[in-house]
Amino acid sequence: MAQKCRYSIIIPMYNEEAVIEETYRRVKKVMGSTGETYELLFVNDGSVDRSAQMIRDYARWDESVKLIDFARNFGHQIAITAGMDYAAGDAVVIIDADLQDPPELILDMIAKWKEGYEVVYARRTRRSGETRFKKWSASMFYRVLRASTDTDIPVDTGDFRLIDRKVCDEMKRLPEKNRFVRGLVSWVGFRQTAIEYERDERLAGETKYPLKRMLKLSLDGITSFSYKPLKLAGYLGAILSVGGFIYMLNVIISAIFTDSTIKGWPSIVSIMLIFNGFILIMLGILGEYIGRIYDETKARPLYIVRDVYQSESQSGQVRM
Ligand code: UDP
Ligand code: MG
Repeated sequence: MAQKCRYSIIIPMYNEEAVIEETYRRVKKVMGSTGETYELLFVNDGSVDRSAQMIRDYARWDESVKLIDFARNFGHQIAITAGMDYAAGDAVVIIDADLQDPPELILDMIAKWKEGYEVVYARRTRRSGETRFKKWSASMFYRVLRASTDTDIPVDTGDFRLIDRKVCDEMKRLPEKNRFVRGLVSWVGFRQTAIEYERDERLAGETKYPLKRMLKLSLDGITSFSYKPLKLAGYLGAILSVGGFIYMLNVIISAIFTDSTIKGWPSIVSIMLIFNGFILIMLGILGEYIGRIYDETKARPLYIVRDVYQSESQSGQVRM
């Protein structure tokens, strides 16, 4: 079904009607300037606005446009994964729909790819138009992740990147459910290189990554590339019980040799609070891992596609 082409551009979108026309225009212009064949793979991640309709309209007369229409919102990382599953190009580029990642950079990526690199990722040297909290939390996250894992995951790098066909095929063999795509690409290996850029402001619309989703993505990143949090729980538990034992000796000695023991109520309460708090945190960390194990054992498909639209009216239900 998929026609061979040189480049596949994956554009995940979730309620992006305000920007999608401009995105389409700019990406199209950049890709047209390569003089080679390409496809624009829009993945509609359950948008409730006109995004999908707009792409379907473009697909009617532009045969490079293809729309993978999800049955509901499955999330950004899964949308990218679906794009990789459908991509037919020799090189596959992932780019956000909101033009925060300048499409013109794709040409630099292609140049690097032609030099022989199999992964070209774009590292942000500066991010504009984002809140100070977002910049700080993102920067913290990349550093914590880097410190806690053996996989060499580059800092300050999002999913904006070019991957070779070989890398794309390897990615398709990774079935995990709570996906952190940029980490998986690093894990796969191959010759990787970076190009640097300044991240622009979102052209229009607002971020689809509120705090809750950012937290989920961070937890996916850390839990799927490191079990240090589990070890940390163990270490903390050990330190606390040694501390607790020493304090207990102190209590016993003062109970035997002094008559001041009844006054200990505040210390008991505070110790209980601290210890119970730690126990709950440890249980929470365990829960994060067990929940993910549960997700894997259910072995549900990653996403459900409602329809695939292409100019030759090749639409039909496809389930992955
Ligand atoms: N996105 C998606 N599904 C979602 C959330 C986001 O496909 O559930 C897309 C979104 O349309 C955009 C990209 O993922 O193309 C990045 O999202 P966003 O720009 O909101 O994230 P931010 O840049 O603020 O981190
Ligand atoms: Mg964005």
